Amino acid sequence: GAGAVAGAAGYWRLSKLAVPARDDPGKDFAGVSPPLLQAIAKALKFPVSSMLPEEAFTVIRKSFDARKILKEPQFVYTVDVDVKRLLDLEPRTWDFIARLEPKLGTIEYMPDEKVASDLVSMLNVYKQGSDGELGINDTVNNGSICSPRKKPRVAVVGSGPSGLFASLVLGELGAEVTLIERGQPVEQRGRDIGALVVRRILHSESNFCFGEGGAGTWSDGKLVTRIGRNTDGVQAVMKTFVQFGGPPNILVDGKPHLGTDKLVPLLRNFRHHLKELGVNIIFNTRVDDLVVEGGQVKGVVVSDSRLQLGSPNQTLSFDAVVLAVGHSARDTYSMLLRHNVDMHPKSFAVGLRIEHPQELINDIQYSELAAEVHKGRGRIPVADYKIVKSFGEGDAELPEQNRSCYSFCMCPGGQVVLTSTNPSELCINGMSFSRRASKWANSAFVATVSSHDFRPFESHGSLAGVEFQREFERRAATMGGGNFVVPAQCVTDFLSNRLSVTTLPPSSYRLGVRPSKLHELFPSHVTEVLQQSIIMIEEEMPGFVSSEALLHGVETRTSSPLQISRNTGTYESTSLQGLYPIGEGAGYAGGILSASVDGMYCGFALAKQLSLFHGDI
Ligand code: FAD
Repeated sequence: GAGAVAGAAGYWRLSKLAVPARDDPGKDFAGVSPPLLQAIAKALKFPVSSMLPEEAFTVIRKSFDARKILKEPQFVYTVDVDVKRLLDLEPRTWDFIARLEPKLGTIEYMPDEKVASDLVSMLNVYKQGSDGELGINDTVNNGSICSPRKKPRVAVVGSGPSGLFASLVLGELGAEVTLIERGQPVEQRGRDIGALVVRRILHSESNFCFGEGGAGTWSDGKLVTRIGRNTDGVQAVMKTFVQFGGPPNILVDGKPHLGTDKLVPLLRNFRHHLKELGVNIIFNTRVDDLVVEGGQVKGVVVSDSRLQLGSPNQTLSFDAVVLAVGHSARDTYSMLLRHNVDMHPKSFAVGLRIEHPQELINDIQYSELAAEVHKGRGRIPVADYKIVKSFGEGDAELPEQNRSCYSFCMCPGGQVVLTSTNPSELCINGMSFSRRASKWANSAFVATVSSHDFRPFESHGSLAGVEFQREFERRAATMGGGNFVVPAQCVTDFLSNRLSVTTLPPSSYRLGVRPSKLHELFPSHVTEVLQQSIIMIEEEMPGFVSSEALLHGVETRTSSPLQISRNTGTYESTSLQGLYPIGEGAGYAGGILSASVDGMYCGFALAKQLSLFHGDI
């Protein structure tokens, strides 16, 4: 009876619930459909699925799985079961629940207090740590409210994901935040990117890397990460995206993505919220130098980034400087080197971007189901792929002999875009819109490189990896022949080390491609690893090596070529007090989500050091 099941009240999590794709309402539906109810009933060994109350179930995750080993493609769900609701709504299930309870070992059990860990509630926890009575933007120093003028002043340099989240936390907790961005707000940045794509005008300070939202704005907006989708930090960031207008299904989708058209309004809402918090946002303003006194950062020197020949420099004083500049701010890296900031080269990856017709990838991955995707009904996601290949002896002493090759930033239904910040260097990446409706599927295809590869550039010290990148970007610009034309080669010719002589297949890249000897661009060991991997992939994905597959050069900015040393816990530079290096440029993140999480936690850590609250982190 009911008494016997009282202890079962709470949540159960059911995972790996499979619904055949042909029965499912499709990728955008995150509710509980009758076929899902059947899968739940089967998992619970409950005889009649229609007796189960829909309200008792919440879809937590929904992914599409079309692996060849399956009998047919399917959607795979993770569902939380509210046991109390099951009991409230369906008395006839009581006995059943009581019988099930002893078997709970086979089903993951969730505690009753399922705390929603969005950024707002996290902030509340931190605030309760101070004295629980703070209003937003009040400042506390050792328990006494200060006048607003005494608020600690913090500069956040860079408005990419890491800088935005650091500003959000610090603003919410009552610091006087100035967010300094060298590029333009999204409205003007969109026009500048339009001028690049249509008229070949590259604005060195407003482009695919620089400007509001950072590198991730005109991107695919994939929200995937290796730091753990269900961690509090990632959940807080995802929920904040939804709060600022991101579609709620990103919380459920197994491979969530936003697309540029969703990112731009989201960033505008983010900006309005920061302004409401009192964050002072200054665009078109570049930090050119740090003011350092006695081993401590006291402020920054800024200039108007729109003026080519330098505007009068202005010095701004701050109690702390959060550096969130991304990995394309090479001038900022050089400035840090002049100040002897502790940094060291770090491994990253370089390679090419491969593009296929999307229909070909759908055919390879989905077989019969591809026909439905081609018709554009939108029920099944367009196909993607992920490839990782390892080579070498596994000898940790010889990293140069251990390379891996992997696909990276795969953009189904996307396009290849120019991510150069300087006309003499050429590098590319991929972006898409939320519907992923373009005819092309592109992906970076890269091999790892490490300090051994940077030896020819050793004279540049900690910037050796940056110079390595620059070298291949310059070679790519020369091979393309200028004007942002990208060097390209049919994948079949790349494998045979020969120039493509027939007409190249069409490319989504808008500024033109030129047949080139991409097999001669990188050091031979990098080329060989890329070639061997492509041959291995063809075995797994027959059709991948096709006359329609086109390689584009080069992919160099996969992650930061260096790391700026900082203290774990405080996020402060190990060599310069008051400097807080964060995000991808500092070598602590790779992607929108991990950069956001890094910025958020730095915000908390710094707020603690500035005595904005006294909670435990
Ligand atoms: P950034 O986003 O690089 O932001 C740094 C900001 O600092 C920039 O706005 C820059 O203008 C500013 N800045 C630099 N120097 C200065 C200075 N001296 N003074 C003032 N301001 C300065 N990641 C994903 O997770 N999913 C994707 O689908 C994805 N697609 C991508 C597609 C493209 C085309 C590109 C370029 C990147 C993509 N990425 C993607 C990577 C992702 O964008 C980055 O990992 C992320 O933006 C890093 O965040 P960040 O805050 O560390 O730095």
